[in-house]
Amino acid sequence: MSTATIPLLDAVTQFISRPKKMLIDGKWVEAQSGKTFPTYDPATGEVITQIAEGDKSDIDLAVAAARRAFESGPWPRLTPSERGKLVWKLADLIEQHLEEFAELESLDNGKPVAVARVADVPLAVDLFRYMAGWATKIEGNTIPISVPYTPGANYLAYTVREPIGVVGQIIPWNFPLLMAAWKLGPALATGCTVVLKPAEQTPLSALRLGELICEAGFPDGVVNIVPGYGETAGAALAAHPQVDKVAFTGSTEVGKLIVNAASGNLKKVSLELGGKSPSIVLPDADLETSIPGVANAIFFNHGQCCCAGSRLYVEKPLFDKVVSGVADYAKAIKVGPGLDLSTQMGPLVSEEQHQRVLGYIQEGFAEGAKAAVGGHRIGDKGYFVEPTVLVDTTSTMKVVQEEIFGPVVCAEPFTDLDEVVRKANDNIYGLAAAVWTKDLSKAHRIASALRAGTVWINCHNIFDAALPFGGYKQSGWGREMGHEALELYTEVKAVCANL
Ligand code: NAP
Ligand code: MG
Repeated sequence: MSTATIPLLDAVTQFISRPKKMLIDGKWVEAQSGKTFPTYDPATGEVITQIAEGDKSDIDLAVAAARRAFESGPWPRLTPSERGKLVWKLADLIEQHLEEFAELESLDNGKPVAVARVADVPLAVDLFRYMAGWATKIEGNTIPISVPYTPGANYLAYTVREPIGVVGQIIPWNFPLLMAAWKLGPALATGCTVVLKPAEQTPLSALRLGELICEAGFPDGVVNIVPGYGETAGAALAAHPQVDKVAFTGSTEVGKLIVNAASGNLKKVSLELGGKSPSIVLPDADLETSIPGVANAIFFNHGQCCCAGSRLYVEKPLFDKVVSGVADYAKAIKVGPGLDLSTQMGPLVSEEQHQRVLGYIQEGFAEGAKAAVGGHRIGDKGYFVEPTVLVDTTSTMKVVQEEIFGPVVCAEPFTDLDEVVRKANDNIYGLAAAVWTKDLSKAHRIASALRAGTVWINCHNIFDAALPFGGYKQSGWGREMGHEALELYTEVKAVCANL
């Protein structure tokens, strides 16, 4: 394993050495309690810096600021065009600091800096630009109405879409900046105000983003950023009676806690949760592209993707060939620190995830699975795990049913299409799926039979700000991105005038 890491930009070292406070009402402040928590470098397990630790009292202040900013002050008086311009300006600023964000993501999350440069940061920029364009296009309808009990009356009836209000946003650590963008983009385009809680493992890029939000000129209190733990800050935000909506991305387990917490004031809830997405390889698939395709589906971002292709179904005659191809691909992946430019796969995000993923692999072995490749920790420092392909798995095993969220794929053969569709759908999740074949008519028929929010054909992990993303079944409620996301941030008001 190589350890030749790039020197950090001066801007990054300077940012890290500044005190990490929270953004409330346009000001950077310490936690009310004065407490801080550490954020770690997953490549070494060492502390990068200390972060102000928000909890209920800080969330109360942030929500009060967001409520004031929503109800009075300059934000609600801005025209849609002015709002859109601010969001676009934020995109420009992120783009100007692309390298800085890529290094921060790599340092805090462990992902290869080369990947963050071409994926995480440009996708975040694009998302803000896409949503900036929507600010001026959030329209209602005029509606012809009949009203049987007022014969002869004439009405003008129309709908308007209004911002939902103060939004609490709780995000995970796998794509820290991008998840902040997915959440903030539609909220700002529609005129909501926000309290954002980044994940405890990866608060750095959200705090840098907060600085750029101030620089862009958003009015005070429109975006508040409160780092802290889920059980304290996150839970207080989800339960807060002055929050109109909570948007959450993370585990299905915590998603259910959010729903319970939200019930106090029946705030609106949107959830983007776990997945156990199938990759299906048909016998006529082009193996030159399918083998790297299904390998990348699981190994991209070290398997820490909610839509990772973590179940691989291959039609029987091709099974051995595809599995050995994916195993060869896995062996060739260069694992190392994210800040080494030659690294293709970095460490998992935390000690907890490291233990969790290694624990799943052991449980798989105990239930009879075998490793075609991988299955172990790499080194004795940092949270590295070998890219792993498990075979001899059966549909009832934990490794096949549960989300591992690491570089571990379970491969199983199938004999006919009905069987593979049944297996693919046999899961509590329904986030994504992929089909690899040259027979496009078959591909579309399978796409229609799969119970998943996204189906990729001859590709995987293709995201675009214009393409809605979200889950069926226990993978969530609602959609992120696309114009679908705007519906989750607006209320519809029907206005009816007797003329
Ligand atoms: P998690 O606990 O669901 O974390 C997601 C976010 O929710 C974090 O900001 C977390 O804060 C916060 N949170 C935790 N408990 C909360 C509570 N009671 N009330 C409000 N917010 C709360 O996920 P994790 O523990 O980091 O990872 C566990 C598993 O979740 C992974 O192995 C994976 O299966 C899944 N996961 C899914 C996604 C996804 O994209 N769908 C992303 C990450 C993880 P703290 O981080 O500060 O605790
Ligand atoms: Mg957690």
